[in-house]
Amino acid sequence: MSFRAYAAPAAGKELEPIQLERPSELGPFDVEILVECCGICHSDIHLIDNDWRISSYPLIPGHEVVGKIVRKGALVQNVKEGDRVGVGWQCASCLACEWCERGEEPACDHHVATCVGRPGGYAEYLIADSRFAFPIPEALPSESAAPLLCGGITVFTPLSRFASPSDRVGVIGIGGLGHLALQFARAMGCEVTAFSTSPSKEAEAKRLGAHHFVVSTDEKAMKALANSFDLILSTVTADLNWPMWLSLVRKHGRLQLVGASPGNISVPVMQLVGGQKTISGTIIGGRAGIRKMLAFAARHGVRAQAEVLPLDRVNEAVARVRANQARYRMVLKVQ
Ligand code: NAP
Ligand code: ZN
Repeated sequence: MSFRAYAAPAAGKELEPIQLERPSELGPFDVEILVECCGICHSDIHLIDNDWRISSYPLIPGHEVVGKIVRKGALVQNVKEGDRVGVGWQCASCLACEWCERGEEPACDHHVATCVGRPGGYAEYLIADSRFAFPIPEALPSESAAPLLCGGITVFTPLSRFASPSDRVGVIGIGGLGHLALQFARAMGCEVTAFSTSPSKEAEAKRLGAHHFVVSTDEKAMKALANSFDLILSTVTADLNWPMWLSLVRKHGRLQLVGASPGNISVPVMQLVGGQKTISGTIIGGRAGIRKMLAFAARHGVRAQAEVLPLDRVNEAVARVRANQARYRMVLKVQ
C-alpha cells in the first residue's frame, strides 16, 4: 500500500508530494507509526539546503514526530499497537557500545538520524526502532509535544546538566528551541533572560518564562550585562560575536552551544583561563533524558507553542521558518 510524503527534489528546492510504499515486513525491533503531526525544526531546513553536506535527494525531512503505532516487529516489547509515541532526531543506535550503555546514544558511532538517508516525518507513516519511540504523557497534546522530541530535548540536556536553580541563565535566539529553553529554565527555578534580535517577541518571551528581555543588538544594554550569567545557551543558526557573548558569562560560567552556527569560534584565551569559563556544545539527548524531559514537561506545563498547518501546506510552513516568522514552532498536521 502506498502513502503520501513530501520531499525536496534537490538542495534548496520547494517540497513536492511523492508516494512511498509501506514495507511488507518490519525489522524485528521496528515500529510503523501513523503520523499525527510533525514539527519543523531548523535542522530540517539545514538538511533541505544541504548545509551539512549529508543530504541525499529526494529528501523527506521531519524528525519531531508524534503518531500512533499501527504495526510492530516480532521482537518489540516496550510499546504496542495503538500507543501514542514520539520520535525525534535519532531513530536507532547500536545499543551495545560504551556510549549507548552510558545513556549517551547520540554519541554512538551507529547513530541513525530519522530523516537522513531515510524518509522522515513529513509523511503519513514513519518507521523507527521501537527503542527510540517514546510514549507521550497524556497531559501533552500532540501538536505541542512533537517539538519536544528534538527542540525540547536539545535544550533540556544542557539545562538539566549545567543549570542550578539559583543560576542566572541567558537564552540566545527565541525560536523553536529558544522558546522551550525559556520554559524549562524557568521551571527549573533559574533567573531567565531572553536575548533576541526581534523586539516584537518581548511580551511572549516573558509570558513563556523570561524574567528579562534584552534586544541583543542594543550594545549599551549588552555592555551593562558583562560578567552576569552562569550559563548562556545559544540556539541560533548564525555565527555570532562569540567573545562578546563570552564576556557576559561570569567566572566559572559556561557558554553552551546547541545552535548549528556554521563557522568557527575564536575567543581570547585569557577570557577562558582568567575567568575559568567553559565553552561547550551538545546534541539532542539520550533515551533516558528524553523520557525525563517528557515527564518534566508534562508536570511543569512546558508546551511548544505550535502554529499548525496541514501537511499539504508544508512549503508555506517552511517559508515561515526560513523568514523567522514562526511563533514559535511550525507543526504539520498529517492526520
Ligand atoms: P528557529 O526556530 O529558526 O530559531 C532560531 C532563532 O535564532 C530565531 O528565531 C532567531 O531568534 C535567532 N536568529 C536567527 N537568525 C539569527 C541571526 N542571524 N543572528 C542572531 N539570531 C538569529 O530554529 P530552531 O529550530 O530553534 O533551531 C536553531 C538551531 O539549532 C539550528 O541551527 C538547528 O539546526 C539547531 N539544532 C541543534 C540541535 C542539537 O542537537 N544541537 C537540535 C535541534 C536543532 P530571535 O528572533 O529571537 O533573534
Ligand atoms: Zn531538530
